[in-house]
Amino acid sequence: MIISVASGKGGTGKTLVATSLALSIKDRDKVQLLDCDVEEPNDHVFLKPTITRSEAVYIPVPKVDEDKCTYCGKCAEVCAYNAIAVSPKHVLIFPELCHGCGACSYLCPEKVISEVGREIGVVESGNSDGVEFVHGRLAIGEAMAPPIIRKVKEQANGEGTVIIDVSPGTSCPVVEAVKDSDFCLLVTEPTPFGLNDLVLAVETVRELNIPCGVILNRTGVGDRKVEEYCSKENIPILLTIPLDTEIARLYSKGITLVEGMPQWKESFLRLFAKIREIVNERGSGTKR
Ligand code: SF4
Ligand code: SF4
Repeated sequence: MIISVASGKGGTGKTLVATSLALSIKDRDKVQLLDCDVEEPNDHVFLKPTITRSEAVYIPVPKVDEDKCTYCGKCAEVCAYNAIAVSPKHVLIFPELCHGCGACSYLCPEKVISEVGREIGVVESGNSDGVEFVHGRLAIGEAMAPPIIRKVKEQANGEGTVIIDVSPGTSCPVVEAVKDSDFCLLVTEPTPFGLNDLVLAVETVRELNIPCGVILNRTGVGDRKVEEYCSKENIPILLTIPLDTEIARLYSKGITLVEGMPQWKESFLRLFAKIREIVNERGSGTKR
């Protein structure tokens, strides 16, 4: 089962949920935590894994043999990302804009474009007290998160439970990380900003046809609009976590919730059981 942990808004407690869920179920199920928030991975701060493997991630960018180029402009025309410009006597390539799609080399009429690998980040994996751990890191100044997310997801071993920590928002990196999940947990807070971004996140996961449930973090502040929205949209609120200075204190020290307050482990196990029930029900519904 693949469970992604996402949130429309940053800072709602995604990391807290992903790490505590992984640690809660590790004694009952094989569990792998994939931190796909590659622009700012921080699950390692809490799980402190021993990293045993590191692999650079490259994307193919074009290299033009200008001795044979006719400067026809076809490559610039087909590049959807404006990563190539052709002047009467020169071809300019902007590697930072290139998505490595290969269209220019495929469509160059003279076949004078080859591809060279450009390093954009790294994928590291290891283990943390029984949790298999993988995360990706996008190199500073790079903008192409999806290729690194794909590499992180390739490490999913297909055994037990895979938990994917997704970057905040609803853009391409989120879609890349969430797609193929069996369930998506949406972590939010009971504020107008939390609700606004939750609505966008729900639209995204529904578009991907992935069932979702909400975790309401920092309850006790804000209003009841998130609850009203979830009730109207028939989205289950699977766990509530109160605004609590002790939880904030643990988080600021890099201690997971279930390690600092072990009484929370039962709540995360119940959360896991509810997710499994929803996924199984949906699976049997699909088969019928
Ligand atoms: S499409 Fe090929 S031949 Fe035409 S300008 Fe680009 S590299 Fe040169
Ligand atoms: S590989 Fe794709 S994105 Fe990169 S320059 Fe060629 S057409 Fe543009």
